[in-house]
Amino acid sequence: MSNEITTDVVIIGAGPVGLFAVFELGLLDLKCHVIDILDRPGGQCAELYPEKPIYDIPGFPVVTGQGLTDNLLQQIAPFGPEFHYSRMVTGLEKLEDGSFRLTTDADETFLCKVVVIAAGGGSFQPKRPPVPGIEEYENKSVFYAVRKMDDFRDQDVVIVGGGDSALDWTLNLQPIVRSLTLVHRRDAFKAAPASVNQMKELVADGKINFLLGQVARLEGTDGQLENVHLTMQAGDTTLPATRLLPFFGLTMKLGPVADWGLELNDNLISVDTEKFQSSVPGVFAIGDINHYPGKLKLILSGFHEAALMAQAAKHIVDPDQRVVFQYTTSSTKLQKKLGVA
Ligand code: FAD
Repeated sequence: MSNEITTDVVIIGAGPVGLFAVFELGLLDLKCHVIDILDRPGGQCAELYPEKPIYDIPGFPVVTGQGLTDNLLQQIAPFGPEFHYSRMVTGLEKLEDGSFRLTTDADETFLCKVVVIAAGGGSFQPKRPPVPGIEEYENKSVFYAVRKMDDFRDQDVVIVGGGDSALDWTLNLQPIVRSLTLVHRRDAFKAAPASVNQMKELVADGKINFLLGQVARLEGTDGQLENVHLTMQAGDTTLPATRLLPFFGLTMKLGPVADWGLELNDNLISVDTEKFQSSVPGVFAIGDINHYPGKLKLILSGFHEAALMAQAAKHIVDPDQRVVFQYTTSSTKLQKKLGVA
């Protein structure tokens, strides 16, 4: 049976705008669950330019993509948002009582009164390596993300790639697997140097293998991998393997958002500029994913949209409660919620 979670608001996307939405909703006492396909928060800021400086966030003359993400996480911590990483929201359904049921590809169900789509340019999806017939092994013995480490326990694992994901999972899975081989096409890595050094130490200690090569072919039965054939400069070879983790980077696709019956404009969700509500009442779209006349795809636009969306969301969740406009500077009530008064 799938896990079922009931909450006020589900936010799809843990990019900067989804994170700030937690703050604005939290000030109004709305409890949020945040779901992201990536394994960490920050969206484009953390995934595409963590170390690049941003110069147009109000009040920060300069902040990096990761720095902004870290600050947002600190700012929203008082509201205790619950994060669900490495899962894609695949289904969105409006129920008879006006609430919503969301489903993820990790077999979870979320029931909520308000849905906030902060899905940016769409879902980051893994690039599939050019290996013939790999589709028939996907989600059975070939995975593009590690959802549950236990799925890799006592397995013969082959990890392919030279970036942070490949190296991080090499280091994290090594203690629980039966065997682990890291395969990369060259002897230079994009991953953090500290991880590369740790990986080299494990190779030197005989705890894992490292091979220079590329995956040419898979062999197995009914989607269960048995062998991985590699093309290598030193001569082709075959590795016994029960799990393959290719990390070939990510592309952005609109993904399932397109199938939820929302009015779209050129693959973006049409919203009003009073509440940033979509064509389905109770479903809001903020940040890069939305469209309205004059839209600028800037982080600060998404922050403004989050503030107005939250007021409208409050009316849906607590229709009988009057919302009094307050400043965080002067309201003891708000300061108590932030844990500073
Ligand atoms: P995103 O950051 O795209 O986050 C959306 C998240 O939603 C992603 O993590 C994605 O995985 C997740 N998601 C999508 N669909 C699903 C689904 N179905 N299920 C689960 N999760 C899902 N903006 C500025 O204001 N100033 C700048 O200087 C600036 N510089 C930039 C430099 C670069 C190189 C790039 C690429 C962008 C830059 N931007 C800048 C743009 C800025 O990054 C975006 O405006 C911002 O990231 C949008 O935030 P978001 O939260 O709307 O979406």
